Amino acid sequence: MIDVDVLERDKNYIELVVRNVPLPILNAIRRIIQLEVPTVAVDSIIFYENNTPLYEEIIAHRIGLIPLKSDVAVRKYRSPEECRKCFSSDEEGYPAVIGTECEGCFVGARLKVYSDDGVVTVYSKDLIIDDPEIKPVYDNIPIIILGPGHRLTFDARIRIGRGIEHSKWSPVSVAGTKYVAVIKTSRIRDREAIEKAKKCVNVCPVDILSFDEKESRIVVSNRYKCTLCMQCVKECPPGSISIEHDDNEYILFFESTGQLSLRSILDLATELLINKLDELIKQVEKEVEVSSG
Ligand code: SF4
Repeated sequence: MIDVDVLERDKNYIELVVRNVPLPILNAIRRIIQLEVPTVAVDSIIFYENNTPLYEEIIAHRIGLIPLKSDVAVRKYRSPEECRKCFSSDEEGYPAVIGTECEGCFVGARLKVYSDDGVVTVYSKDLIIDDPEIKPVYDNIPIIILGPGHRLTFDARIRIGRGIEHSKWSPVSVAGTKYVAVIKTSRIRDREAIEKAKKCVNVCPVDILSFDEKESRIVVSNRYKCTLCMQCVKECPPGSISIEHDDNEYILFFESTGQLSLRSILDLATELLINKLDELIKQVEKEVEVSSG
């Protein structure tokens, strides 16, 4: 039976120990988390005024990378696949004019800032977004510093996207799987080997080994921290410690950029995986029907 434990968790990071799930399935979830779980981000910008020293391309790049709260938006707006035809640009690079067929594909945003005679720092919180449920994850991301007389005005379009298209839509900064170590230690009887074992435990880079004088063996405090670097096997007396990886237990970890909660990321990833499998089953059944006449 599938069994999951939380190994480590804070607001934006989680490590899960997963048992009885094959590694390729966990790896599929990891890839879906990185590349396919949707979020919202600024997609296109039309500049009206910019006499600042920064090129518009640089400002647009910065705006696109501001992480936006997406938990509600990804269920509320239409998917990029449904809206594909609304993403095109005209010959001058301006975004396509939105018709009724593009309703629910975009959310408008704008910025109008200026400095009369002082120096003004413009932050992510200054972006005005039409949907109050979409806002920057952090209010204090600097966008630009305006000098006296500088003005910056633009309209922007926010839309749902996926990490496979651009990393600004990926909901995670990192996602991975790790092997879990199975560590076995044996009682050491030889005096010289005991002295060596007392010292060799210090090679562990994650500090999970110590020597138990009473038991006369190496002891392990937390096998889930083991990186399987094998330094202990090289340095400790032969036969005193052995390391293998478990075939039935793996760690899945990921760090949210803050666009989606950890729970939403996992929910959306598993939904997408199930949809893919359903689609695969349908296609196979169709082919079987066709081939059997
Ligand atoms: S394999 Fe590396 S991380 Fe694991 S216990 Fe040995 S030294 Fe420590």
